[in-house]
Amino acid sequence: MDEKDKMKARLLEAKKKSGKEKESALMAVAEEFQAAEAYNELGIYYKDETGEPEKALEMFEKGIALSPRTAALYNNQASCYVNMAVKSEERREEHMAAAVSLFEKAGKLNSVGYFFLGNLYMPKINPPFPDDYEKAAGYFKKVDRDAGACWFSALNKLGIYYYHEKKDYVRAAACFSLAVKLGGTDKQYKNNFEMAFSKVRNRKFWKEKMDALELPGQIDEMAETGEKRLIPVCPRCKSREIGRYSVAENLRRSLAGGIKKKIHYHSYCKKCGYEW
Ligand SMILES: [Zn+2]
Repeated sequence: MDEKDKMKARLLEAKKKSGKEKESALMAVAEEFQAAEAYNELGIYYKDETGEPEKALEMFEKGIALSPRTAALYNNQASCYVNMAVKSEERREEHMAAAVSLFEKAGKLNSVGYFFLGNLYMPKINPPFPDDYEKAAGYFKKVDRDAGACWFSALNKLGIYYYHEKKDYVRAAACFSLAVKLGGTDKQYKNNFEMAFSKVRNRKFWKEKMDALELPGQIDEMAETGEKRLIPVCPRCKSREIGRYSVAENLRRSLAGGIKKKIHYHSYCKKCGYEW
């Protein structure tokens, strides 16, 4: 058994203990092996079990000194600051800023950090962070496959953003269907797809496009090129600059033209003026 395995075995034993015994066993592993994993566990212990965020931060900091590229250490520090921001009113802004900056640091190492950041701004989830759907969506777009199951969850949340905030059912359905296709097993993703797709027009056209999707980064392009193809063309000059007359507008134009003139065109070409 090499040192690393020995440390892992001891760490596992320590994690099974509770209270003060757990604390001293973890500390022993941390100091003996100079192991970032053990400092991480100690930090979690102080953060979640004893509610001592300052002590927790110190432990994560020791872990970072030993292993500066471990995303979990920054995420856990950030989560400490979120807890502190909830509790302390006078230092709230400062703690919130620290949390954001640490999650961003983590996100550069593993995109799950961006997932946590997106969640901070999702409506009605994480006070004191303000509801900011746009910001949340921006972070969810940065989540990649290295985030594991959070990748699918981020896609699902992005879909919810398109659905509720943008009423963009094509992009929403594309997000949900891709979450399922890439391996997301949550039943909710499939239900959300059904819900969004039922609101999509030209379903046959879009289904094909969605089935061809392989990665989230392709959704915008799929939607844009698809939308362009669905825009009608002027029968005379082939321009795509088409306007539509509303029923009210047709009525107004009919009245303006006199009692006998009934206008019933739906569309007009902005380029050549043709009406149909
Ligand atoms: Zn035309």
